[in-house]
Amino acid sequence: MSLTLYGKPVAETIKEDLIQRVAALKEKNIKPKLAILRAGEELDDTAYENRILKLCQDVGIDFQVKVMIRTVPQELFEEQLIRLNNDPEIHGILVFRPLPKQLDEEKLSNLIDPAKDIDSMNPEHLKKIFIGDASRIAPCTPEAVIAILKHYNYNLTGKNVVIVNRSLVLGKPLSMLFMEENATVTVCHSKTKDLASITKNADIVVTGIGNAKFFGKEYFSDKNTVIDVGINFDEDKMCGDVAFDDVEDIVEAITPVPGGVGIVT
Ligand code: NAP
Repeated sequence: MSLTLYGKPVAETIKEDLIQRVAALKEKNIKPKLAILRAGEELDDTAYENRILKLCQDVGIDFQVKVMIRTVPQELFEEQLIRLNNDPEIHGILVFRPLPKQLDEEKLSNLIDPAKDIDSMNPEHLKKIFIGDASRIAPCTPEAVIAILKHYNYNLTGKNVVIVNRSLVLGKPLSMLFMEENATVTVCHSKTKDLASITKNADIVVTGIGNAKFFGKEYFSDKNTVIDVGINFDEDKMCGDVAFDDVEDIVEAITPVPGGVGIVT
């Protein structure tokens, strides 16, 4: 029977730490405040937003939400973003993505103040991650993967890590974070040959391909710790990229979906 690496205790630890850090700032008369900027009223966005606002309330962070119409022109959206950049009472800005297609994401990413960019939208952060600058803000999902492993006392030094994803939000920054921890990293993708032989031999396998239950028994061995980042739906039920029920008895440890990486992110 393998170990299930639940996300909840990790998230609780992060929350406790936040409560203390927010309290320390308030003692210095700094009231941390988050601004959410979004275009439109997509159902997914409001559910995500409600979870964020609840978390802000729980830890004592103020917030404001600016909703623009889905068809907002680029100039108006930029104007709002600049206003938030320049507002001294706002410490963090979160722009909801995906953006509607009339908005130029690249331009907006370069416009957001890196010091307030809590979702690591500005390429400045990726550059800093690359050069190992401690002031970087890494994208949330890679940070969550590392937080889970650290919470469960994994020493990553010298570990063979395989990441199946090469996107800018996951695989690329995560490979840098693992290297910071002295792991040996292999990044795989859709053109990788004989993926199973690579994953089987890894100490840690991170999956993030967005394909429900794609990774079955044949991809794993008893030396693997599996971190499943995928969020998919199979017959309306949320599941990861890994066929959890088939694999959990084979691997050494595994994160569930739901209840794993998502809650920490
Ligand atoms: P993405 O940009 O579509 O990237 C998917 C990656 O998987 C690509 O590198 C792709 O390779 C690779 N891939 C696809 N099919 C493959 C296959 N059969 N074999 C090997 N590699 C394959 O997606 P993303 O934005 O990074 O997100 C990935 C997943 O993570 C999604 O399921 C998303 O829902 C989930 N996610 C979860 C969280 C969380 O908090 N848990 C947060 C964010 C995202 P190529 O580069 O060759 O195309």
